Amino acid sequence: MTREVFWNIKGEILWGIGGQVIFYVLSALAIAVFLFGFYRIVRIWSSTWGERRERKFGDSARTAALDALLGRRIFRGDIFGGLAHFLIMWGFVLLFIGTVLLTVHNDIYEFLRGTVYLIYSLALDLAGVFFILGTLMAAFRRFVLRANRVHNLWDDPVILGLLFVIAATGFLTEGLRLWSISHIGQELSPMGDALGALLDGNAAGAEGAHRISWWFHALAALGLVSYLPYSKLFHMFSGAANLYLGQAPVGIVPLEEREGLEGEFDRTQLISFDACTKCNRCEVVCPAYAAGEPLSPRDLVLSMKQYTRRKHAIERRYLDSDDSKKNPPKIDDAVAKDECWYCTTCVACAERCPVRINPAEIARETRAALIDSGKRVPKTIRDVLNNVGKYGNPWEPGGPKHYAWLKELEAKDFSQGDSADLCYFVGCLASDDQRNHDVAKALVKVLNSAAVDFAIMGKEETCCGDFARRLGEDGLFEALVEGNYSAFADLGISNILTTSPHCFHTMSRDYPAIKDKLNIGQDPKSKSSVSASATDGGLSIPDLNVRHHAQLLAQLLGNGSLRLGHRIEKTVAFHDPCYLGRHNGIYNAPREVLRAIPGVRLVELSRSREGSFCCGGGGGRMWMESDVEHRMSELRVQDAALAKADVLVTACPYCLSNLTDSMKVAGYGEQIEVKDIVELVAEAIEEPGVVDSVGSSDKIKEA
Ligand code: SF4
Ligand code: SF4
Repeated sequence: MTREVFWNIKGEILWGIGGQVIFYVLSALAIAVFLFGFYRIVRIWSSTWGERRERKFGDSARTAALDALLGRRIFRGDIFGGLAHFLIMWGFVLLFIGTVLLTVHNDIYEFLRGTVYLIYSLALDLAGVFFILGTLMAAFRRFVLRANRVHNLWDDPVILGLLFVIAATGFLTEGLRLWSISHIGQELSPMGDALGALLDGNAAGAEGAHRISWWFHALAALGLVSYLPYSKLFHMFSGAANLYLGQAPVGIVPLEEREGLEGEFDRTQLISFDACTKCNRCEVVCPAYAAGEPLSPRDLVLSMKQYTRRKHAIERRYLDSDDSKKNPPKIDDAVAKDECWYCTTCVACAERCPVRINPAEIARETRAALIDSGKRVPKTIRDVLNNVGKYGNPWEPGGPKHYAWLKELEAKDFSQGDSADLCYFVGCLASDDQRNHDVAKALVKVLNSAAVDFAIMGKEETCCGDFARRLGEDGLFEALVEGNYSAFADLGISNILTTSPHCFHTMSRDYPAIKDKLNIGQDPKSKSSVSASATDGGLSIPDLNVRHHAQLLAQLLGNGSLRLGHRIEKTVAFHDPCYLGRHNGIYNAPREVLRAIPGVRLVELSRSREGSFCCGGGGGRMWMESDVEHRMSELRVQDAALAKADVLVTACPYCLSNLTDSMKVAGYGEQIEVKDIVELVAEAIEEPGVVDSVGSSDKIKEA
């Protein structure tokens, strides 16, 4: 028992040519169109700089394989959509494998006989059922449920329709064949057998109908093959690639090495453009979009894809006029609504994207290109970057006024010649914002209570470079990194504590990523290890051990260095700052601290941990004006009201400042307090000044 592959098709069709030959010619044509489309895309991918990301092959490959084969990320927040995709994907894969096996059987080695054929036939019928079910579910979700508020473009129904027609005509062809030439064991082709039985009793014209159905099926399948690299179905290749590549954060490439590549995205980013399926999951979770700002991460990705297409696609070489070849597209024309500046780099979109696209990185690269071109950069952003460049902080000139309040901390000061085990890096916002002064004072109280040996940098502290990096001012970022490393080396600092997750992220992630690429502490001419301050015997550039205060608090409570005795009988909700949570995976430490405070009843906000909703201050947004009706932080404080919290606790100066303002604007100012986590801990300290028997150096190391 077997199957004749071209049964009923081999006869002459056109000009004396048989159906099988015509099918092979059409297949070759479809494969040629497919290969050209594939080449066209890969050529664009190779038009840019190579990879600058660091990844561990084994771990990344394993994660990518599980994500791709099980569709793990697709189920996030959309189980119905995940199931539809799972059925379509596995149905497609099995049917494709089945077609390849049939070709081998027909043209190379006949092996689909007897039991093997029956098993093969059953497996393909089941795959076809999965496939049809998946396409129907996807169509229902897309056109009836409109899940994730998808925007339907013309190719969405075309693709789903094509997939459905291929599967349906496959079954119809099988049914007509079994009706015409029934065989033993055909019940193991249950769908074809059932269709054949339905048609039973009306046998006239069965073979003719089979021929028509066969050609319909074949042409639809070949049409799909040709269309694949020109449609979003190409994500089956680019999406799989991005699931592997997108796991590593974008590398930091010094400006010196980027010379001539301004306005270009790195290879992983170009691949990610082609991986986007326009599923809209990113837009649904984007806080800027929710606040009515002109940013959709989906549209940002797609507009940058169009920009790189216009710039690098092969057909441009032949279709463009001489004039447009001389004037290639500019990135400032591609950001018609200045959308990239509205991104808070909260990475809620990247967290939700099923194929690991990171629109925040794309926004950053776009900003870097705009800064480089000097066009479409908002004035407030230009001003703040100028201030940081001139004064080392985003405000106004530094000097006595700016630093005077630091005296109130009564802390040791590295810039005054003091030494300590730990440097408390106060940060720009905490240094200049009155509300954040209270946080700094609370932290000093807590550190003293736990007998931690610390000092501030005083006049030697300059901006860590967070918003220079996020805003794409890479030259300024490099200068700040160099300056800060030199200051740390000069002052003997290697252990750093921050209250800002932005300083924490920048110094713990970005600094090491660029440290060895800059000539810090080297004579730039000789590139030897001669120190920039050779008279002092050379600078030893430290490896930094950077901690966020939520981590240190959890450690000090855990090892008994801090004792909390005063009860705080309040319902408390924790707002996860994006750069503590999603960017660095620190979710448990702040919750452990809050649970350790006597009397506190911790409740979760509806959007918490990975699903936290940004306050709107990150990514340089703190310095940008927006005229939307409701700011992101106003939307966020609603969550605290719904959770019936007495206190909304956070661990970030931007969040504290934004949420405090918005609590008042939203009318909850009297009911809900906004506090930094260390303020609650300071309130709960039993005996300020208790000195623990554990040495302070040991505590810092453990922390
Ligand atoms: S970026 Fe990701 S989440 Fe957003 S539309 Fe594209 S595939 Fe979907
Ligand atoms: S990083 Fe945040 S603000 Fe930026 S596009 Fe993504 S979700 Fe929107």
